[in-house]
Amino acid sequence: MDLHFSEEQQQFRAQLRDWLKDNLERRWIEELRDPSNDQKKLFDIRRSWQGKLNAAGYLGIHWPKKWGGRGLTVVEQAIFAAETIHAPPIASRVGINLLGPALIHHGTEEQRRRFVPKMLSGEEVWCQGFSEPEAGSDLAALRTRAIPDGDDFRLEGQKVWTTFAPWSDWIFVLARTDPEDRYGGITFFLVSLHQEGIEVRPIRQMTGESEFGEVFFDGALAKREHIIGAVGEGWPIAMTVLAYERGSMSLAHPARFDHYLQDLVKGVRQNGTIQRADVREKIARLLVENEVMRANGFRTLASLVSGQAPGPEASLEKVFWSEYSRHLADTALELLGFQAHSLVRSPSARAEMDWGHEALYCRAVTIYAGSSEIQRNIISKRILKLPSS
Ligand SMILES: Cc1cc2nc3c(=O)[nH]c(=O)nc-3n(C[C@H](O)[C@H](O)[C@H](O)COP(=O)(O)OP(=O)(O)OC[C@H]3O[C@@H](n4cnc5c(N)ncnc54)[C@H](O)[C@@H]3O)c2cc1C
Repeated sequence: MDLHFSEEQQQFRAQLRDWLKDNLERRWIEELRDPSNDQKKLFDIRRSWQGKLNAAGYLGIHWPKKWGGRGLTVVEQAIFAAETIHAPPIASRVGINLLGPALIHHGTEEQRRRFVPKMLSGEEVWCQGFSEPEAGSDLAALRTRAIPDGDDFRLEGQKVWTTFAPWSDWIFVLARTDPEDRYGGITFFLVSLHQEGIEVRPIRQMTGESEFGEVFFDGALAKREHIIGAVGEGWPIAMTVLAYERGSMSLAHPARFDHYLQDLVKGVRQNGTIQRADVREKIARLLVENEVMRANGFRTLASLVSGQAPGPEASLEKVFWSEYSRHLADTALELLGFQAHSLVRSPSARAEMDWGHEALYCRAVTIYAGSSEIQRNIISKRILKLPSS
């Protein structure tokens, strides 16, 4: 395993840093703190930042050039994610990270031509319609039906926890085309949200935002030409969708936590508790664990670059960074006291890091993209080979 970046990769990073210096006018935390930015405005900032990145060739970095990518590797993608932690998150994160690679691998030429360019530019924002009220960890229990109607289908049912649904233009939906066949009866549709028969109800989170929502289908049109793969082939495609994302965040999480840890150290210096041995020990542990995470991230990248398919080891990474996020935020609340609890727009909030928001938001990270319990099941069965009962 080589832990060094190649000369070209270092050059890529240097160019990106220069580009960010010239183009990133305000850090994301400053946008969040600006009281004139409501949720709609914040989303527009994300969309316009995405447009800038796309014009400069910084989206789809490891996608083929033919499809608007840069034709580089997952290492450059990981460098990009680590260098841009202070920038606004892109608007079509779900589309570009999850659906884009699925379209490139499983879509038809016509589907790629129709959807990929507008996904990259941010003109069309996507959300993911997989989970339902009774189908989360057990996704194959989904009940949304796609009922044949002439050449096409009509959707009936409900999705939930759909990130960005209130702001999206399109949704990729898993729907049941055969109620008798648990896995073979699922089809993968691309569906416009701007039509009759669809209602999106935002869900208010405990952070105060409405980043996700419920999506209700009542006879919405799902066109046959917009099925990815064939009717009944949705399950294996859905399973690969999540695998595409692996590796790209391997360096970004430790980079983000470096920044958080610096803020925490600054805070305990200011309040004087750094003098206490137990406080220093807590922080030292967090620093060491972050280095372990970084080393593991390099390992993931090295194996992806050497051509190995992402395996169950990705579950180790997911459990580690998500549980770490919660541990770090809880420690900050404990050590920084009142100031850490103030939310971003409060006048007494910390200037750099919004621990109040982070502590509330990170309750979600051990749930989405496969909960910690599900990841531990994968680790115990597929890595440790423990019996299932
Ligand atoms: C912030 C956020 C954003 C999300 N965005 C999207 C999105 O854009 N699109 C989308 O489709 N979904 C999205 N989700 C949904 C997410 O995928 C589900 O919440 C997740 O799969 C868990 O499903 P569930 O909520 O139904 O919980 P359940 O599956 O009902 O699980 C409840 C609890 O039981 C545990 N559990 C379940 N099964 C087992 C088992 N076999 N062994 C041990 N423990 C088990 C779980 O770990 C959990 O603690 C999002 C969720 C969150 C929190």
